[in-house]
Amino acid sequence: MSNSARRPNIVLILTDDHASHAIGAYGSVVNTTPRIDEIAATGRRIDNCFCTNALCTPSRASILTGTHSHVNGVTTLDTPIDASQPTFASLLKDAGYRTGLVGKWHMGEGPAHDPQGFDYWAVLRGQGEYFNPQILTKHGVEVVPGYATDIITDLALDWVDSLDGDEPWCLLIHHKAPHRAWEPDEKHKGMYTDPIRVPGTFDDDHATRSQAARRATMRVAEDLTPEDLKQDPPEGLDDEQLALWKYQRYMEDYLACVASVDDNVGRVTDWLRAQSHFDDTLLMYTSDQGFFLGDHGWFDKRFMYEESIRMPLLVSYPSRITPGEPVEQLITNVDFARTILEAAGVEPHERMQGTSFLPQLTGSPDSTQDAVYYRYYENDDQHHHAPAHYGIRTERHKLIYFYNDGLGLPGTSGISYPPEWELYDLVADPEELTNVCDEPSYTEIREELEAQLWRLQADLGDVPHPTQEVPARLAAHPTAISMN
Ligand code: CA
Repeated sequence: MSNSARRPNIVLILTDDHASHAIGAYGSVVNTTPRIDEIAATGRRIDNCFCTNALCTPSRASILTGTHSHVNGVTTLDTPIDASQPTFASLLKDAGYRTGLVGKWHMGEGPAHDPQGFDYWAVLRGQGEYFNPQILTKHGVEVVPGYATDIITDLALDWVDSLDGDEPWCLLIHHKAPHRAWEPDEKHKGMYTDPIRVPGTFDDDHATRSQAARRATMRVAEDLTPEDLKQDPPEGLDDEQLALWKYQRYMEDYLACVASVDDNVGRVTDWLRAQSHFDDTLLMYTSDQGFFLGDHGWFDKRFMYEESIRMPLLVSYPSRITPGEPVEQLITNVDFARTILEAAGVEPHERMQGTSFLPQLTGSPDSTQDAVYYRYYENDDQHHHAPAHYGIRTERHKLIYFYNDGLGLPGTSGISYPPEWELYDLVADPEELTNVCDEPSYTEIREELEAQLWRLQADLGDVPHPTQEVPARLAAHPTAISMN
């Protein structure tokens, strides 16, 4: 039996809101992450991985179940998962894997929503605490003294250390960090005292964006709270100076939380090497979505803009994956389940959507997807006033339809606004500063993308918002609609 025929162990380290532009391997100019970078150096960096709904709870459900939000039912923060759904973990367990989950779950609590398909689970309650977190297991709730990122790693390694026998195992390590309110531990607090570089789009005036985006309350200058910043600003700052001061405070703590994650990723890889498991382990580092790090003047996520939907994804599996150039193909969080199952030699469930990207990692790409479908449902008027929208991202373009309607879903607002479109040319305008939706020179592209979005949505079993008209190209050829 060759090395590659052995079923791999699987370790998925999932952080919360860790943007790829705060990872050294992705060229960060604001911090270093040597231990996370090691995964890329021994494996592959994936450059175009996107979430399909940039919010913690829905992204987690999509990763586990291998389905879009409209299929798994987890559309907003207030739609707990039906945990009896098939997941890659439950299928691995059925195939003889030992399965464990430690850390943030955030998909509901109670018999219908607690983790299923795991031999062992120990999870934070709700969003979880950074310090002395409450840990929920099948035996009840316990407050564990210490710092969440360390505790989650401790519990994860304790579990896998406790296993006997040769059957492979799958371990999910789900950190709370670096989620708001960005509370660093003593070891890393204050490690970023030098000025942190301010992104080039910090002063974006959002001039050509939709009203939907302009209404959002996620501005560093205006919407970070005293609780977020944990200090009073110095006296006598003008508006511009105050905005920059807030940016520095925000980033100091965010990056210090990341530094603790980096140390703890190192603990996991050190453990794998010490146990001689490293070569035969599919080790993945990712985050449930990206984050605005002052980009466009914002923090948070939710929007279908690049910094928000782009997930870091670094993968090593030395016995099957040879280090090489970054993978450029479009990949989504829905693709993870099929990829992990293919690596383990386990058949995916028929309802699982997406496409395995294992061939891209092992150097024999035989499949591609030419577009990503995105849908954000929350339409909230409490947190950040980010409106409901869906859209399509191809290699070159992004078309977004802000339908601005909560559709009565739990966690959404009853307020709705007139729909608006945005279109970006990611080659001419990689920072998405200019919405070209109404530019005459983009009319053809927009019509094509509207038709492509309509077809993709139908292929995936989702339905357009009632306010969206049938795209002109499809209305002119009705059979093209019924074929899809
Ligand atoms: Ca998140």
